[in-house]
Amino acid sequence: MSVRTGLLAVAALFVVYAALYWHHVIVAAMPLDAQISYFVGSCAAICMALGLLLSARPRPAESSFGGLDRMYKLHKYLGVVTLLLFIAHYATVPGGPEGEVAATGAVSVEAGAEPSASGEPAGVQEEEELPIDLFGLIAMIGFTLLIVITLNRKIPYHRWIATHRFMGLFFIVVAAHVFMVLYDGEDIPLQSAPGAFLALLLVAGLASYVYKQLIYPSRQKHPFTVAAVNRLERATEVVLQPKDRMFSFEPGQFAFITIDAAGFREAHPFTISSGASEGVLRFTMKVLGDYTRRVRDDLTAGADAAIEGPYGRFNPLKDSRKQVWIAGGIGITPFLSVLRTMAPGHGKTIRLYYCVRQSREALFLDELQARASELGGITIKLFDSETGGRIDAAAIEKDLDGTPAERSYYLCGPKPLAAAVSAGLAKHGVPARRIHTEEFEFR
Ligand SMILES: Cc1cc2nc3c(=O)[nH]c(=O)nc-3n(C[C@H](O)[C@H](O)[C@H](O)COP(=O)(O)OP(=O)(O)OC[C@H]3O[C@@H](n4cnc5c(N)ncnc54)[C@H](O)[C@@H]3O)c2cc1C
Repeated sequence: MSVRTGLLAVAALFVVYAALYWHHVIVAAMPLDAQISYFVGSCAAICMALGLLLSARPRPAESSFGGLDRMYKLHKYLGVVTLLLFIAHYATVPGGPEGEVAATGAVSVEAGAEPSASGEPAGVQEEEELPIDLFGLIAMIGFTLLIVITLNRKIPYHRWIATHRFMGLFFIVVAAHVFMVLYDGEDIPLQSAPGAFLALLLVAGLASYVYKQLIYPSRQKHPFTVAAVNRLERATEVVLQPKDRMFSFEPGQFAFITIDAAGFREAHPFTISSGASEGVLRFTMKVLGDYTRRVRDDLTAGADAAIEGPYGRFNPLKDSRKQVWIAGGIGITPFLSVLRTMAPGHGKTIRLYYCVRQSREALFLDELQARASELGGITIKLFDSETGGRIDAAAIEKDLDGTPAERSYYLCGPKPLAAAVSAGLAKHGVPARRIHTEEFEFR
């Protein structure tokens, strides 16, 4: 399945919902302002449901989205779109947001209603069913707060994730709001096509949330023992020995590691840097924050570890074209795994650009060079920014004798580097489908 299948499926879902919805509301002769507001609001609820579905990490969906990291990226975008739709829903509510009455949540203007003697629309006097009730307001405020927290990068990951768990609770409030306003209000009955479609998605979102919170944590993980902790330049290599059978993985994949020792119990994702048939797992962890510093300073061999995975679809071995690999710093880990997996006679032509700030930060450079000459067809060039070696598309074009458009590109490293090089390559005529990036970030 192609990477875009998942996105197309999501887009198709919205198209189907839109078609069912507009057919229903036109036949039901619903006032236009209500049509728009309900549509925008129900799309927000669908985005939320899809976000929860993706965060439950459904394995069968991984390949259609191009890997778990891509699924989390879409999850993030869905969150932002939900927020915008919530705002649009609130702004377009029939009668306007100011029509909302805090205590009862009552709004309302009946379309086409004649103004009364007092000048107020007749609908207000009749105290109609509420387009925005208290549930809707609570959900919107709670959701907005959680998204603002998500977007504030100064909040440490572990604090952010603790707040993010409440997202599902606000989704329950959103679902209640939908049931009260749409179904109970009989504008879009449950038995109508859009009503049933929406209900199905809401139930799927709720089920995903319950699964992720209650069932997912106790899922079976692969048991390992920490066999060695090797201190490197601003990084640590953790070697894990399987307690029973080694699980199979593809080079370029990542896994979540949980170490059973005080201060290490939060699951962290790391790319597997060992070869697929080594019999042990290696993770190479750059010292970045609290956890990675603790791994370097305090972790000792003998601790139990649980591995969840593998995940990801960043595997250059599946590509038959001439390839260019670009590793920024610790972004070398997937390529380490690939080179440790490959065997002589692979038939590929690969140029690896290894970009570091200082040459001593080029982890495993000797091993990589030895592997490259042993395997054949692979050349490595070090870009050391301290001595002026910076990579960009122009430098690549020059180095490749003006043939960048013929190759496939695999990039792993800091976001600005990956974004700048990808944009430059696109300008040099490399089609987007041949630029593959791996991001070391979910949030
Ligand atoms: C798919 C993937 C593969 C990765 N592979 C590698 C690798 O091979 N080598 C490597 O050094 N790093 C890798 N990382 C990054 C690594 O997960 C973070 O550097 C590490 O978790 C930082 O933890 P910290 O507490 O030391 O740093 P912090 O300063 O607390 O966090 C730095 C950043 O890491 C991320 N992060 C922190 N904790 C978690 C968590 N529990 N789960 C998910 N993300 C978190 C957040 O984006 C945060 O902003 C990978 C990340 C992802 C998503």
